[in-house]
Amino acid sequence: MSVRPIVVSGPSGTGKSTLLKKLFAEYPDKFGFSVSHTTRSPRPGEVNGKDYNFVTVDQFKELIDKKGFIEWAQFSGNYYGTSIDAVKRVLEKDNKTCILDIDMQGVKSVKKTDLNARFLFLAPPSLEDLKARLTGRGTESSESLEKRLKQAEVELEYSKEPGAHDKIIVNEDLDRAYQEFKDFMLANE
Ligand code: 5GP
Repeated sequence: MSVRPIVVSGPSGTGKSTLLKKLFAEYPDKFGFSVSHTTRSPRPGEVNGKDYNFVTVDQFKELIDKKGFIEWAQFSGNYYGTSIDAVKRVLEKDNKTCILDIDMQGVKSVKKTDLNARFLFLAPPSLEDLKARLTGRGTESSESLEKRLKQAEVELEYSKEPGAHDKIIVNEDLDRAYQEFKDFMLANE
């Protein structure tokens, strides 16, 4: 039987990608990333097929119609989705622990599936800090920034609900957060 998948969520800009990159670099044979589909444009440095499968809205909708997604959602004006194939590839072909980086809607959807995932939430020290990080990253238009900050508040509220996540890590200090992150990841059954 394969190990339980791990769902990492948390507001855009909290450092999920940074922590995941460190983890994949340290444990390349142990963890595999579920590469989502998205209709948003690639950011500088993002690689198609590695960070995301970048697709058009038509291609995305085609996959919805074909029932190719485990879950999908609209976030900040774009479509994002976890395909059945993306998870299968990690679990069956690569035989690694599958990690999903998805938003709160995805978390709720995955809870309704039989994936039996564990849920980790990464929180910013504060909303002000998150705003500063997202602004500093320079990847978002002011419209996208506003949408992401609004969504961050919703995600933080949800994270306070009992049982929403198995573990919450506040990313204040990167090294400390990574240690906690790693401990949770390696505690898989
Ligand atoms: P970004 O555009 O910053 O890469 O991602 C925006 C949000 O979409 C993040 O919260 C990220 O976790 C989420 N996301 C990425 N892939 C998926 C997916 O396949 N499904 C869902 N529901 N959310 C996703």
